[in-house]
Amino acid sequence: MTALPESIQNQLELIQEKSDLNCVIRTRKESDISTAGTSSGFLSGKTLLIKDNISIKGEAITCASKVLEGYTSPYNATVIDRIESEGGVILGQTNCDEFAMGSSTEYSVFGSAKNPFDAARVTGGSSGGSAAAVAAGLADMALGSDTGGSVRQPAAFCGVYGLKPTYGRVSRYGLVAFASSFDQIGPFAKTAEDTASLFVSIAGHDPKDATSSKKSVPNLQDCLDAPLPKSIGIPRAFLKKGLNPELASKINELESFCETEGISIVDVDLPHAQYAVSTYYILTMAEASSNLARFDGVRYGARKSDENVQELYNQSRSEGFGPEVKRRIMLGTYILSSGYYDAYYAKAQKVRQLIKKDFVDAFESVDLILLPTAPTEAFKIGENLDDPLAMYLSDLFTIPMSLAGVPALNIPAGKFSSGLPAGLQLVGNYFKEETILSFSRRVEQARVFTYD
Ligand code: GLN
Repeated sequence: MTALPESIQNQLELIQEKSDLNCVIRTRKESDISTAGTSSGFLSGKTLLIKDNISIKGEAITCASKVLEGYTSPYNATVIDRIESEGGVILGQTNCDEFAMGSSTEYSVFGSAKNPFDAARVTGGSSGGSAAAVAAGLADMALGSDTGGSVRQPAAFCGVYGLKPTYGRVSRYGLVAFASSFDQIGPFAKTAEDTASLFVSIAGHDPKDATSSKKSVPNLQDCLDAPLPKSIGIPRAFLKKGLNPELASKINELESFCETEGISIVDVDLPHAQYAVSTYYILTMAEASSNLARFDGVRYGARKSDENVQELYNQSRSEGFGPEVKRRIMLGTYILSSGYYDAYYAKAQKVRQLIKKDFVDAFESVDLILLPTAPTEAFKIGENLDDPLAMYLSDLFTIPMSLAGVPALNIPAGKFSSGLPAGLQLVGNYFKEETILSFSRRVEQARVFTYD
């Protein structure tokens, strides 16, 4: 066995030094870290950390839950194979909310990750460990999963890029399912270019995921240098209710940049976006209740009783799942029950179509949509913990895109007056990630936002 290159040794040491951030929960054994093939590829020599709900062969995977204690992944997720064949070096796994259900990582069995800008604040979630790790320089890049904002919102709270690709763009094979019609794996990085490199590496059709799209992946050059958009829409009516004034001024800064570049800024209407949060929670809880049925102590999950089969299910699930996951399984089961299915599930499916149509209509007249990623700066650890509704509302601006399936990126947008990072969201038409990425690269190169 050859020793790891010094740069990678240093990276592993830094992860140890910063263990108080609680964002990396497991590093790989040095002998398992593969640097073979790092001399070429889009990710040549780049270090990566992976959210703990994406399978890496031979490594533990817990989804930050007690229920998966002792389980080892028997295979690689497709994204892991693709990262390795592009020369990326995977160092370990990151903290997240249990089964990706949450907005802060406070619902993790490992305890909350801490924001590198202020340790008393959350990283956002659910992929908070990945966002914080990249912000703190523990890896060049990271992967998260985004069901309703779990890549974009922590990216905003930690001041890094975080992309949710178009639904179907990136294979979900090997990602532990939360809500399958929403889940997408997405990259985190410190620059638009690194975000684009990781995106093109993991994207593309995979016969192992039936929902994976056959559309060809844009080449890296297009993601870096596609022509600038002609017009950008701002959904002002949707934002009217309680837009944070500091985020409003970030939007103004970007508008001025667009003016100098000859990009027109117009109003767009997303008339049904106001129903997105309730629609999302009905549909995702229903899907989660079905997806998580497999963690029963027989098929998957730590077995807690041998008494009889009923007790085995009861105890394995009661002891294995945390409170938020239980809340969602119970509400999801209720939503799907025969007496309420039409009133909740079927109705929410119809509203989802209306929200989708809002985006299809909007993209007839604009190339991108601009809005904040999260409604506030990173909140304090513990602040929203007793109030699930307040927690759910932190995804107000990310959820509509998840229902529609369109791609969306958090771009770092300077800081709040408190010194915490601010983020803005750029949304593109279906499969138009290159428009989002190349525009954000121009914003980065022009230094539109300041960080002092
Ligand atoms: N915070 C949202 C939720 O709790 C989104 C989570 C996610 O995208 N995985 O469902």
